Formats: sequence, structure tokens, C-alpha cells
Amino acid sequence: MPIRPPVHRPKGWRDKAARDRDYLTYRDQSRVRPTRTAAWKRARRAFLAEHPVCAVCGAPATVVDHIVPHRGDLTVFWDRSRWQALCASCHGRKTAARDGGFGNPLRPPP
Ligand SMILES: [Zn+2]
Repeated sequence: MPIRPPVHRPKGWRDKAARDRDYLTYRDQSRVRPTRTAAWKRARRAFLAEHPVCAVCGAPATVVDHIVPHRGDLTVFWDRSRWQALCASCHGRKTAARDGGFGNPLRPPP
């Protein structure tokens, strides 16, 4: 029966899981995208339960849109009065046309 040869590990070598744990302790938390947090996922799910239809076309809503782009401002990001429920199609259209998507200029909401 073949025996696996020993694998060389340099002194101080740590496996990927240990390195990832270390990274989570020293990374800058302000760099974490707010839409990646569990708090946003909870808030988003609750908002969509309260507002199940798209504000534009009336289709089932799947996206919580910031009416005015938050541009990283967490006060604006978490202000529910600035949110609207949209379907993915309407959100994509709005983002491309008004929020600076695809190199388009940023335009204020109508
Ligand atoms: Zn829609």
C-alpha cells in the first residue's frame, strides 16, 4: 500500500482557516460593505415583507433600493424612509440610468 510522503511545512506555517481567523481579528471593520452584513440581510428581509410589490411596476419586489444613493454614508444607508422596494429589473434600470452605473453621470431622483 502506498504511503503519502511527508509534506514540507515551513516554520511558522499555519493552515488557511487559522490565517482567515487572524484576518478577521485585524481587518478594518469600516471597510466591510454594509450590504454584506447580517443586520442588512435581516432589515432587507423585513422591509420586503412589509413592501412586497415593486414601487415602479407592481411586480413582486426583490430588491431594497436606496432612493438617493448612500455613497457609503451609513446614516443614509440605514434610514428606512429613504428605501423603496423594487423588482430587480426596475432596480437595474434605475441604477444604470441614475446612480452612475455603466459610466453614466449621477442624477438626482425625479
Ligand atoms: Zn419593477
